[in-house]
Amino acid sequence: MPLPLTINALSKSYGARKAVAGISLTVGEGEFITLLGPNGAGKTTLFQMLSGLFSADGGRAQVVGHDLATEPLAALSHLGIVFQQPALDLDLTVAANLQFHSDLHGIPRGEARRRIAHWLQRFGLSDRAQDKARDLSGGNRRKVELTRALLTCPKLLLMDEATVGIDPASRAQILADVKSLCAEGIGVLWATHLIDEAQAADRIVVMAKGTVKFNGRAQELLALNGHAGLTEAFLHLTQGAPEIGAEAGAA
Ligand code: ATP
Repeated sequence: MPLPLTINALSKSYGARKAVAGISLTVGEGEFITLLGPNGAGKTTLFQMLSGLFSADGGRAQVVGHDLATEPLAALSHLGIVFQQPALDLDLTVAANLQFHSDLHGIPRGEARRRIAHWLQRFGLSDRAQDKARDLSGGNRRKVELTRALLTCPKLLLMDEATVGIDPASRAQILADVKSLCAEGIGVLWATHLIDEAQAADRIVVMAKGTVKFNGRAQELLALNGHAGLTEAFLHLTQGAPEIGAEAGAA
């Protein structure tokens, strides 16, 4: 069975600025990978390529063996994503938001209702199905967005700084909910700049200035230079990162 995600030497520039400069990484079945990087590291650009919003300038990415460039529909059919920006219609009920998304994906109504009920129950939101999204807390809205991403039964889940602006208790709950999905074989790539969220990962990928600076377990990151904590190790890796922004000869 091909891996949920395989990325080889993927790159993307905005004019002369290389936002992603030849990134390679994998996400295995049931793996929880934290993509940790400071502002401007290239996480969002990477996610935009993986979600098919932008095409890469070079390299390739495969979702469950399907190349995003040559088989985009097959690749995207295995992918669920929660974006940084809120994506619910606040005037619709939770159920209507989810039903609308299911319809867009052509999921038969009965099956959609079964899946919606399953995930709302799993995330403790069964009694909120008929509430307007506007009336939910930030944390619960994110759980509805997570439910939305899961309706198509993805093998790979991309979470792009999904806990921004959410209180610590809700953040921890969402992290635990997403982690629990890994036991069902879903591979997760969780982008964040919050180091405490990296502790929960099977592997940490540290990204800075468009490149991968580290790919391994938290203990290995700490052992790299004998750092006392992840924050110190992260800052050491990312603050000294060479600037790759402008290509040779560019302004
Ligand atoms: P953040 O945590 O701040 O969202 P990020 O890790 O997601 O950062 P990106 O948003 O991918 O990083 O940005 C990577 C680099 O590309 C940055 O230098 C950024 O200024 C630049 N960049 C991003 N989007 C564009 C764009 N549309 N046009 C020009 N440059 C861009």
